[in-house]
Amino acid sequence: MRLLIVEDDAVLRDGLQVGLSACGWTVDGVGRVDDALAALEASAFDVVVLDLGLPDGDGLEVLRRIRDRRMEVGVLILSARDAVADRIEGLDTGADDYLAKPFDLDEVAARLRAVRRRMLGRATPALRHGSLTLDPKARLAWLGDRSLSLSRREFAVLEALVERPNQVISRSQLEERLYGWQEEIGSNAVEVHIHHLRAKLGRDAIRTVRGVGYTLT
Ligand code: CA
Repeated sequence: MRLLIVEDDAVLRDGLQVGLSACGWTVDGVGRVDDALAALEASAFDVVVLDLGLPDGDGLEVLRRIRDRRMEVGVLILSARDAVADRIEGLDTGADDYLAKPFDLDEVAARLRAVRRRMLGRATPALRHGSLTLDPKARLAWLGDRSLSLSRREFAVLEALVERPNQVISRSQLEERLYGWQEEIGSNAVEVHIHHLRAKLGRDAIRTVRGVGYTLT
């Protein structure tokens, strides 16, 4: 999962970036409304963690833009505004969830997983495809009864494929999901992860659709 943190308090933003990266996610951060809008145009994020009180405007402007443009992005508002009326306004503007500051990082992570599940139309925490099972919280995967030893990025690739089992996922979609702004992407990085996954899952588990991307078989 790729996340955008929109938070003007640099200490809090860095804390969220470090804490949520430790959950295995790719996390970028900005501190202003205009930077958030530019980031959303430039990169494909799965969920935005959105503060409301920002130096150049209101976080609800970012939320309205996301919903007006029909971007497929989940939004968790994380705000010091904790009145019932604020929560209602945030949710009715299109947020998927609303959490008041101060917050507990583990709860933020759990709510992000829940937002992602709902976006994908799933109710169960585990992801399943054929004999493959993934636990997104523990970041563990099994093929039948056999547990698989996967790197963070191998798990992220497999999770992306299992989330949308009937679709072809392009290399650039996988790169967006795996690498944040600060991270160098090797030209064949995705191919290397796919190669390693095939070695662990079986050669035919992931099909290459030439010129398009990858899909699970
Ligand atoms: Ca703020």
